[in-house]
Amino acid sequence: MTNVPEMFGSLVFNEKVMKERLPSDVYKSLKKTIEEGKTFDIEVANVVASAMKDWAIEKGATHYTHWFQPMTGITAEKHDSFISPAPYGNVIMEFSGKELIQGEPDASSFPSGGLRATFEARGYTAWDPSSYAFIKDKSLYIPTAFCSYGGQALDKKTPLLRSMEAINKQVLRMLRALGDTETKTVTTTVGAEQEYFLIEKEMYSSREDLVLTGRTLFGATPPKGQEMEDHYFGVIKPRVASFMHELDEELWKLGVLAKTKHNEAAPAQHELAPIYATTNIATDHNQITMELMKKIADKHGLACLLHEKPFAGINGSGKHNNWSISTDKGVNLLNPTDTPEKNDKFLLMLCAVIKGIDEYQDLMRVSVASAGNDQRLGGNEAPPAILSIYLGDVLLNMLECIENGEEVTKEKLLKMDLGADVIPEFKKDNTDRNRTSPFAFTGNKFEFRMLGSSDSTACPNIMLNTIIADQVMQFAEQLENGKTVYEIVKDTMKNHKRIIFNGNNYSEEWVLEAEKRGLSNFKTTPDALPHYIDEKNIELFKRHNIYTREEIISRYEILVENYNKAVCLEAKTMVYMLKRDIIPAISEFSNDMVCTVANKQAVSKKISCFVELDLAEKTSAILEKLYEKAASLEIETEKLIAMADHNKVSLEIKNKVIPIMEEIRRLTDEAETMVGSDYWPYPTYADLLFYI
Ligand code: ADP
Ligand code: MG
Repeated sequence: MTNVPEMFGSLVFNEKVMKERLPSDVYKSLKKTIEEGKTFDIEVANVVASAMKDWAIEKGATHYTHWFQPMTGITAEKHDSFISPAPYGNVIMEFSGKELIQGEPDASSFPSGGLRATFEARGYTAWDPSSYAFIKDKSLYIPTAFCSYGGQALDKKTPLLRSMEAINKQVLRMLRALGDTETKTVTTTVGAEQEYFLIEKEMYSSREDLVLTGRTLFGATPPKGQEMEDHYFGVIKPRVASFMHELDEELWKLGVLAKTKHNEAAPAQHELAPIYATTNIATDHNQITMELMKKIADKHGLACLLHEKPFAGINGSGKHNNWSISTDKGVNLLNPTDTPEKNDKFLLMLCAVIKGIDEYQDLMRVSVASAGNDQRLGGNEAPPAILSIYLGDVLLNMLECIENGEEVTKEKLLKMDLGADVIPEFKKDNTDRNRTSPFAFTGNKFEFRMLGSSDSTACPNIMLNTIIADQVMQFAEQLENGKTVYEIVKDTMKNHKRIIFNGNNYSEEWVLEAEKRGLSNFKTTPDALPHYIDEKNIELFKRHNIYTREEIISRYEILVENYNKAVCLEAKTMVYMLKRDIIPAISEFSNDMVCTVANKQAVSKKISCFVELDLAEKTSAILEKLYEKAASLEIETEKLIAMADHNKVSLEIKNKVIPIMEEIRRLTDEAETMVGSDYWPYPTYADLLFYI
């Protein structure tokens, strides 16, 4: 029997362990540092490091690593052992405060977007004591931020921590203006629901597209898709169940609050949701979750796909970023309570979200822009690339009452005459329609659903925290100057109501309606990214000390480059698969058809060869086109590699390369349905999706 409470956090250097193992003055001083963001005293760090090392060694660790989140989207680590030479050829196990606080990885190969020239390779990692150290694979992992020696952020954690501080500062100021003198800190919280696919490892390994790019570049639609709706919340198959079981246990040991697991809408698709945590911890934990999913799947003979659209025509995978904000007194500021119309804190936070998302639609879109997510957003199962907010009818009615200066009554909220003591049901309100919303209010939090499954939650939350901090700052100023909460609500509704949409976001009508409302619709990454460095956005980040101008420009450069690299890799993989496997397979099939015709004719001219001739003709025609297209894809990709302007490359990709790739795929998938299965070089969609 697994004892979950005992297992939970058993590999984490958490509060409980610190309390047990640190002298009480050191413990207090460390807590103060964590809570108030004070700098470290080296004496304290030495004691903490030594206690951490002893604890880690008892748990079997031999190494330690500064674990960080560079701009590659995955985590990075470099392991050092604890050993240190001792007299008589012996070693002792050592770990100093200095080694805990600061590390110096060779940073030259991490992307910096020009912030750190390669000859000036020195970057350093700095301990983030607000996220606990943990043990994995016999190493002590120390969560760290990664900066250049000039102090510029080279990672995703540094700006995330800065954004949490910015929103804390501004919301506190607003609370003071409302007369709250008690609250000491406010913290944003995140629960990241993670979708993924599991397929047979052997089949995965036999497809270069999956191995090299994470998604299938070819594959005809299988006879059965998800139309039977028999997978969603269906019975979990034994192999998958045993994977999930091990994943849960490993996550629990690392203090990750893995809570729910179920099958998703598409065949072979699943989801894991944790219980929410503070934003930076939730982000660290999501990285650990993605990493363990891959590792544990491998152990079970499976491959875990985190790409946002591994299979065309089948639902893609997203990540739902549930976001809220609460005080150190345990008050969730997005909790409407029974009388939201009288709840000033809630009303202002709600308005901050409405105004903020409307003014910075572009940044929210940028925060989820990637080659992979371009395949998913705007598909039938995913939110469109248009930002809008779902509030539900009750809250919208309330805001409209306030806007029109009408008294808010329960009847008006529900737009029905239901008698006096009906409490508005916020949570269950129209859950069906809100599934299609990219940014939905779900009871006491907002759920941002545009994230791709492989995205780090850092970027969207940096944007969200900063955007909301900025709005709250303005509201605080207005309150300080005597404006009332209702006046702020009225202004917000008057100027930003267009962003609220309670209807079906997947419909064609909404795209037209959104255009009428003047909402932006950046369909692809190359359309969205340039707005990252719009002057208003640079000013926003500068105002709250999240990024300097140089830092934003470097991030923009990295995102553009990542996009270009991802698509070029896909193009090259496509050409490789075509030339080595697909073209020869179609040719062989077509040749065999012709030989069959010759054989039949040799026996008797009366035997019909219609089918073989027809197939040979059709497949030969496709073959010729494919050969031609593969050559032009190769030429176009080569041209891009020679181009210096990354932004131009993105546009060329969008306008030239992707259309050729789509045409190649269409032709190949057509051939797949004609060529005999013995000839086809790769497992089909049916093999991949229904095998386990
Ligand atoms: P569902 O969306 O499936 O109905 P819930 O609404 O209970 O389920 O939760 C979805 C996710 O939202 C979970 O990861 C949960 O931990 C997270 N969540 C719940 N409350 C908060 C909060 N205050 N802040 C951030 N995330 C939250
Ligand atoms: Mg959800």
